[in-house]
Amino acid sequence: MIVINYGNDIISNTYESLQASDIHKYLRREQKVAIKPNLVVPRPASGGATTHAEVVEGIIIFLQEYGIKDISIIESAAIGESTRLGFKNCGYERLAQEYKVMLFDLKDDRVTHLTHSGYQLGLCNRALDADFLINVPVLKSHCQTRMTCCLKNMKGCIPDSEKRRYHTMGLHKPIAALNALIKTHYCVVDGICGDLSFEEGGTPVESKRIIVGANPVLVDSFCAELIGYRPDDIEHLAIARRLGVGEYYNEQTEVVSLNTQNKPKQNAKVTRIAERYERLINADSACSVCYSSLIYALYRLNGRTEDKLFIGQGYRNNDGKDLCAKKTDKCVGIGDCTRGFSCFVPGCPPKATDIIDFLR
Ligand code: SF4
Repeated sequence: MIVINYGNDIISNTYESLQASDIHKYLRREQKVAIKPNLVVPRPASGGATTHAEVVEGIIIFLQEYGIKDISIIESAAIGESTRLGFKNCGYERLAQEYKVMLFDLKDDRVTHLTHSGYQLGLCNRALDADFLINVPVLKSHCQTRMTCCLKNMKGCIPDSEKRRYHTMGLHKPIAALNALIKTHYCVVDGICGDLSFEEGGTPVESKRIIVGANPVLVDSFCAELIGYRPDDIEHLAIARRLGVGEYYNEQTEVVSLNTQNKPKQNAKVTRIAERYERLINADSACSVCYSSLIYALYRLNGRTEDKLFIGQGYRNNDGKDLCAKKTDKCVGIGDCTRGFSCFVPGCPPKATDIIDFLR
């Protein structure tokens, strides 16, 4: 079952969506509940990157009325970003005080290693230990995985060293394996104004909707179509399905639509800005934060660069000389991984503004 609810009153829409959903089948009063929002960067949700605190507030009100006592909010921001600053800037400190819930920065958590599908992965204990994990992603675009929603949001339940390592393993397969190892018990998707160009926000698209459902593959397959992708276009989604994490939604899936009169007039379209600039980039195991800094820089430059760009952990210990065969080629490395290049933009990840200045 999936519930989709439209409107501006985020707290009551979230609460109403849960009431109309099948969460009652799975949730028990004595359970220890962890809520996992997306606070990839410490920027307010209006920018399109992070989960609205009001969505989490609606969930907390629902849970407390249900009789749940032990509620925590868990998150680990992107590499190089501060989770604590995200809690502060995005309104989660207020939630913690007002509703007496705990905030946990998973960057400080202990890690357990488990294996699935040949991948040994380090997982944060607070995510593993929850009796009931509510996954609260933002529905938005991603420069490397096309869409980020429930499955991808679980990357905030691993340590930073693992976040880097996932990119050396091809990203999609470890994301799918991660979701086989840490169970999401319920999904509440913030589809209010997710960014359909950049994971880090900046160009939000107003969609005013909350989508809830029990399984991350079910919900992600539904959400993919909302932003113009078929489920199989999202590689980690297809792999997660094959690994048995869940099934795609189909015509048999019960879909309850609430307050459809509040739908925004224009439908959100995927702009696929990242795909526009892919041809300019040679990437090998690049972290998402690094890659999206480069995409953002190219967007600002309107794609105007004559340089050959190299990015990612695969270029460590490479001086770039063999990569630019022609004398006229100018090879530029992006990020500290390319520090062997004679020409590179430092930073791990580098700032988009530094890349722009350098390429200009
Ligand atoms: S420089 Fe970029 S690709 Fe390399 S480890 Fe840092 S963030 Fe990842």
